[in-house]
Amino acid sequence: PYDVLVIGGGPAGASAAIYAARKGIRTGIVTERFGGQVLDTLSIENFISVKHTEGPKLVASLEEHVKEYDIDVMNLQRSSSLKKKDLFELTLENGAVLNSKTIILATGARWRNVGVPGEQEFKNKGVAYCPHCDGPLFEGKDVAVIGGGNSGIEAAIDLAGVVRHVTVLEYNQELKADDVLQKRLNSLANVTVLTNAQTTEITGTDNVNGITYKERHTGMEKHIDLQGVFVQIGLVPNTEWLDGKVECNHIGEVIVDKHGATNVPGLFAAGDCTDGPYNQIIISMGSGANASLGAFDYLIRN
Ligand code: FAD
Repeated sequence: PYDVLVIGGGPAGASAAIYAARKGIRTGIVTERFGGQVLDTLSIENFISVKHTEGPKLVASLEEHVKEYDIDVMNLQRSSSLKKKDLFELTLENGAVLNSKTIILATGARWRNVGVPGEQEFKNKGVAYCPHCDGPLFEGKDVAVIGGGNSGIEAAIDLAGVVRHVTVLEYNQELKADDVLQKRLNSLANVTVLTNAQTTEITGTDNVNGITYKERHTGMEKHIDLQGVFVQIGLVPNTEWLDGKVECNHIGEVIVDKHGATNVPGLFAAGDCTDGPYNQIIISMGSGANASLGAFDYLIRN
């Protein structure tokens, strides 16, 4: 069996695995996609000590660092269930079963869906989630961004440089994004902000041709013709597969203590899948290191 089996190969998982392997204990990583969300990130300017890098470049360095150690990396493998007997028993989607004394959950998060008609139907046909990835596809076109938090406003600023016009739709009366982002947004000529706007449908035929929303203060339904919709209403933790076997908060984030420990002895968690308040690369890496040291502490005591 493994001493530490890490599930997820984003910054949290990579960091947890390196910290474990440096203790000379048997370490593995099972991950659906090594690199995680960082693979979808273009420009990174807040990974302290590195002034500027790009997602795929950082993932390559992560991979190189992991490869320096005796870590079994099982990439392109999705975990489907976890049981605790004497050891933890992790079942993969391909049917394989792995045993480990401790587990570190580092399965991260994914884009939250808005859940209106047209969203599923037009995914990749005008409905997008990653402005860095898909923004250039809408060059010279009109798009909407759903969501007025930091990610929505960052997306709108980013897209405004590429597309013809951006309409931001925010459900609440005010944008929630940081002031500095709002100021930047307001300085852009090709952006319109609609608050109190509840998206009700993404319309189209073969591809997206518009968005329908309800003006919440008047109750009136309105429609805008456009070719793209970026959904930016936050992230959902990748924890459903745990099937309620680990204590989570109301939005499905795994609850951890200061040592990264969950309510199940020997089961630790780190990064965006946990109830930590901020989701960032540097924080995920710190959280992975923390959970790994927590797991090591657990191993020497049990
Ligand atoms: P993730 O990166 O989400 O990695 C989770 C890993 O778990 C993935 O490898 C995934 O494949 C795997 N996984 C999930 N479910 C399973 C399963 N069932 N079985 C096996 N494996 C599984 N942060 C910054 O600090 N600076 C930035 O500039 C920045 N820009 C961003 C831009 C974008 C577009 C996005 C999406 C995020 C950005 N972030 C940024 C946030 C940052 O990427 C995340 O906080 C960080 O990647 C979280 O790391 P993580 O390891 O917890 O999770």
